This record gives sequence, structure tokens and C-alpha cells, in this order.
Amino acid sequence: MRMMAILAGVSALALGAVPAQADELRDAVAADLPALVELYRDLHANPELSFQEVETARKLAARARALGFTVTEGVGKTGVVAVMENGPGPVVLLRADMDGLPVVEQTGLPFASKKRALAQNGTETGVMHACGHDTHMTAWIGTAQLLAARKSEWSGTLVMILQPAEEIGQGAKAMLEDGLFTRFPKPDYVLAFHDAAQFPAGQIGYSKGFALANVDSVDVVVPGVGGHGAYPHTTKDPIVIASSIVMRLQTLVSREQNPNDPAVVTVGSFQAGAKHNIIPDEARLQLTVRSYSDETRKRLLDGIARIAKGEAIAAGVPEDKLPRVTVQDPYTPATYNTPEFTDQVMAGLKPRFEGRVFEVPAVMGGEDFGRFYRADKANVQSLIFWVGGVPQAEWERAQKGEVELPSLHSPFWAPDAPVVIATATEALTAATLKLMEK
Ligand SMILES: [Zn+2]
Ligand SMILES: [Zn+2]
Repeated sequence: MRMMAILAGVSALALGAVPAQADELRDAVAADLPALVELYRDLHANPELSFQEVETARKLAARARALGFTVTEGVGKTGVVAVMENGPGPVVLLRADMDGLPVVEQTGLPFASKKRALAQNGTETGVMHACGHDTHMTAWIGTAQLLAARKSEWSGTLVMILQPAEEIGQGAKAMLEDGLFTRFPKPDYVLAFHDAAQFPAGQIGYSKGFALANVDSVDVVVPGVGGHGAYPHTTKDPIVIASSIVMRLQTLVSREQNPNDPAVVTVGSFQAGAKHNIIPDEARLQLTVRSYSDETRKRLLDGIARIAKGEAIAAGVPEDKLPRVTVQDPYTPATYNTPEFTDQVMAGLKPRFEGRVFEVPAVMGGEDFGRFYRADKANVQSLIFWVGGVPQAEWERAQKGEVELPSLHSPFWAPDAPVVIATATEALTAATLKLMEK
């Protein structure tokens, strides 16, 4: 039933948005959609964690090979590179990410994941495509099919990649380090989409310039001098020092940061002590730090180190017990949509998706897609756009305040997948055909 309603939704969207003349590409997407939804349900039911995407990669690599792509597996551990050379012209790279998350699915969908796996820290967990990477992969196949069937309409080289480990921010780096830009044709354009939990299904959102943030994870270990809770004068209390650090960190954004340049410093974990009457000898903080530019990132990270040290000195902690600040490496660099290319692609998509394409503010989330641009800023044009996934009925209920919408990574995230897949497939195919027009 749900399926019928959703497919009806697709055709309603199609009818509403298509110009008077028939649209051959949209019809082709609609014809492929039932099989794509089958693939989606299979991928959704069988998610794999970061760098464990073995079956996913194998399945999709086989499909790309059957379409006539030259396919290399195992690029950056579990990554896949599918190349189709088709005459002179630009090199266009289309990317989908493959990994699921350590989340126990609670959508109640008939094809909900029941998979379990070992997470990075060794604990067993449920696994779910809670970020919608299953919609990305399905649209990737949908686009590959359409472009392979339209070789007479384009000229150039198509490089389609399936990237592992986006959720831990390491997959793009792993593929680049394994020769993505040297062993395979180097792209002039890189293009991707992400499903979005903040827009109704079938809407397309884009940001020009920075679209997603630098993401840093920072650990701060605050040593003190432990002792009896009744004799604080014989100790250096690390809980009080760490508390001062937490409060002073708030000033990095509120007092030191230009209000026109967004930044976030969040202390997500504060751990210390084991008993009421013992002053512990250590406190530990875990921070997430978000920014857009390299300069702001550096200023925030320098500021965290300065504040940690300064608060410890103010508390009279000896030199050999100053806080230790560690910034996790690698971090996830900000994703930048090159403005000219963004305009070019959106100018092509706007008439096709009339009334469904919107410029939207950048977000403080992270994506390692930005690495493909950063690997050669002078020669690579880059764009990632959003495709809304919230089912229309749910969107309307949320607007009336009747329900709270789940975010990406929620165990309840259940996008209107057919609409996401149809929209993204059509958008990626149309954009690529335009870039490679004969
Ligand atoms: Zn995610
Ligand atoms: Zn994601």
C-alpha cells in the first residue's frame, strides 16, 4: 500500500513539474524506477559499516560491469571505480557513498535492516542505512544505466565511484591515497547528492561556496592532584578546572569569532571521578568543533589549546600537569561547492524541476566529499546538492506541529525513497548529459 501511494506521488510530481512537451528522460526514469526500488530495498535491508562494505561493493560493481563500465574494486579498501570512456571531452566523476551506521533500525518498514556487525570500537551493534546512502547508491546505478544507454548523446569520460567509510570521514581520503586521481582519469567535475531530512521529498537544495563544515574531534585530558573531598586545599581539583575550561570555551564563538562566520564548539562528553568524597586526579573532555574556512578552524583549535592551558595555570597546576589537547587526525574538511559550476548545474536543473530547486543555507554537518575538490582546487569543479526525502504527508503534519521529523542518523529516518531516487537519478543524469553534451 505504501508503495502504491509513493509511486502515485512520483507521477503526481512528474505531471506537475513537466513542461508541456513530453520528457523522454523523465519517462525513462519512471520506467526504471520499480527495479531501482527493488535494489533500494535490498541495499536497505543489508547495510554494512564503514570499510566493511564488501557485499555492497561486489553487488554494485557487478551491475556497473554489466553496463559496460571498466570496473576496479578494492580502491581505498572497499571502494569501486567504474570508468566509461566515450570520446573526447571532459572527465565527470559521480560519487555515491556506501556505508551504513551503527544504529538499530526502528522504522518498522517491511524491509528494515536486522543486520548486526562489529563497530570500530569492537562492540556488536545493529546496522542501518540511517543516512540514506542506500538512496545514493540506487540513484548512482539509475544514472549509470541511463548514461550507458545514451552513449550517443554524450562525449567524454565518465568516472563513477562508490566510496566507502563516509561516516567516519576516511573513505574519500583512502580512495585518493590509493590513486583515484592518478590510476584513473582525473575529473574536471565532481558531482554528488545527499538525501535531506529537512526538505520535502523531491525538492532540490543547494548552497554556493561552503556547503558543509570542517569537522574536528578534540580530546582534552585535564590532570589534577587528587585527594579527599573533605580536604580540597590539599588537591588541585580537575573537575573545577575542566568546568572552567568548558565555560571559557563558550567565549571562542561568542566573543572571538566574527558573527558573520559561523562556528561551533560543543563539549559532548565530560568524564571524571567515581565517588562523592574523592577528588579525582583527572578529568576528560570530548569536543566537536565546526568551522568553514581553514583560518577559522586554526583559530578555534589554537584557542582550545590556549584556554585549556590558561585555566590550568590560573588554578595553580604545576607545569608537568598541564592539560593535553589532541586533535584527531584525519579530520573531515569543509565541503566547498565551486560557485560557477554550481550556477551552471542549477541553471540546467531549474527549468526541468520547476518550483523544486532552492538555494539553502550551508549546514554545520560534515561530509568527506570535499576532499575530491581539495585534492586539486585549481582544476576540479565540485558540487554536492541535497535531495529532500521527507514524505509529503509527514512534512505537512510537521508543519502543523503534529509530529517531529527525524533527522539523518535517526533510527526512525525513512525517506520517501522512490521520490528521492527518481529525482536524484534524473538530476544527476541531466546534469552529466549537459556537461558532456556533444
Ligand atoms: Zn551520515
Ligand atoms: Zn551521509
